[in-house]
Amino acid sequence: MSSHSPTASRSRHRAARRLDGVGATIFAEMSALATRTGSVNLGQGFPDVSGPSAVVDVAVEAMRAGRNQYPPGHGAPELVAAVAAHQRRHYGMDFGADQVVVTTGATEAIAGAVLGLLDPGDEVVVLEPYYDSYRAMLQIAGAVRRPVTLRAPDFRLETAELEAAVTERTRMILLNTPHNPTGHVLSQAELAGVAEVARRHDLLVVTDEVYEHLVFDDHRHVPIATLPGMAERTVTISSSGKTFSLTGWKIGWATGPADLVAAVEGAKNWLSYASGAPFQPAIAHALDHEEGFHRDLRASLQRRRDRLCSGLADLGLGVHVPQGTYFVTTDVSGLGWDDSLAFCLALPERAGVVAIPAQVFYEEASPEGRHLVRWAFCKETEVIDEGLRRLRAADLAR
Ligand SMILES: *Cc1c(COP(=O)(O)O)cnc(C)c1O
Repeated sequence: MSSHSPTASRSRHRAARRLDGVGATIFAEMSALATRTGSVNLGQGFPDVSGPSAVVDVAVEAMRAGRNQYPPGHGAPELVAAVAAHQRRHYGMDFGADQVVVTTGATEAIAGAVLGLLDPGDEVVVLEPYYDSYRAMLQIAGAVRRPVTLRAPDFRLETAELEAAVTERTRMILLNTPHNPTGHVLSQAELAGVAEVARRHDLLVVTDEVYEHLVFDDHRHVPIATLPGMAERTVTISSSGKTFSLTGWKIGWATGPADLVAAVEGAKNWLSYASGAPFQPAIAHALDHEEGFHRDLRASLQRRRDRLCSGLADLGLGVHVPQGTYFVTTDVSGLGWDDSLAFCLALPERAGVVAIPAQVFYEEASPEGRHLVRWAFCKETEVIDEGLRRLRAADLAR
C-alpha cells in the first residue's frame, strides 16, 4: 500500500512581517489579467521584439563554447571592461575593474545597494511616484522612505522640497532619471539642486539610470555622478534590458567608488552570487558594437510615443508627454474617473486593454496619483494601433 500525503494548497504559516503590504508586483498582476482576458497589454514595460540578433548569436556561441557554469561573482571580465568603456565613452567617467559590478538586472543592483549601504532606521529620500522595487527593498532592509513628489504637468523636482525631506537620519537619496513612470528627465538645474543637497548633508546617492539611452526630442540624460563632488558619493545603476530590448536576460550593473561598489557586491554575493554566464559576453558585445541599436530604438520609440500620446489625447485623456522611457502618464479624471485602479480594473472588460494604475507608485495615503494611469509604448506600432482602436470603440466614461 503506498502512502502519500496530499499536496497542500496552503499552509498555516504566515509570510515574514518585512513583506507586509509589499504584495506581488503590479506588473505581474496586470500582465496576468491581460493574458486571462485576451487584452492588448499596454501595461508592463517589455518590448514585443527581441534586441539585436548579433547579440543573440554571441550568447548562443557562448553556450556552445561551454560558458554555462558560474561566472565570476564580480562579472565576466569582458563585460566589466565593456561597462567601464561605456561610462568613459558616453560620460567621460573613468572606472577601474573594482569600480564596476555586474548584477542580475538593475533590480539586483538596487537590492544590493539598499542592503549593502543602509542600516535599519536609515532614511532614504526617494522621488515619488517611484518604481515599485524601491519600496519593497527599502522595507525589507528596514529603511525609512521619505518621498519627494514630482507633480504633473511637468513633474519637476523642487530642490526646496528635497531639502525639506532631509533629516539628521537621512543617509541616501535614491534617484531615478529618466524617471519611471512619469518619463521626466532631470535637467541640469534639477540635478545641480540634488547635488547641492547631497553635498551639504554628506549623503550617498544611488541613481537608477536604466533608461539612459531612451531620451526624446532634445532632452539629454546626464548622470549625476558627473557633477562636481558627486563621483565620490554616487552609485550609478543601469541595465541592458531596456537599452537592448533584452529584458528577460537580466544583465545589469553598478558603477561607483570602489568601497561603495564593494558594499553592493557584498550584499549581491548573498542574493544571486552570479547569473547569466552566456549572456554576459553577449552584452559586452552589445555595449562595444551595437550602439546603433539603441539610437534607432530611441527614434522609433519617439514615433510610437507620439502615436500613443495623440491617440490617448483624442480619447479625452489628459496626456503628460514624456521626455524619455517607455511610458506615458495620463489623467483619467476628464472621463469622470477619480480612481485609476478602478479605471484599470474595468478597462479589460470594457475595452480589452490593460494599463497600469499609477497610484500604486505613490504612498498609500497620497491623493497625488489617484487619477493617473501609465501606458507603455515600447510595443509594436500595430499593437499600439489595436489598443487605440479598442479604446475608441469602448465606452470609457465613468
Ligand atoms: C525596468 C526597470 C528596472 C529593472 O531593470 P532590470 O534590469 O530588468 O532588473 C529598474 N528600474 C526601473 C526604473 C525600471 O523601469
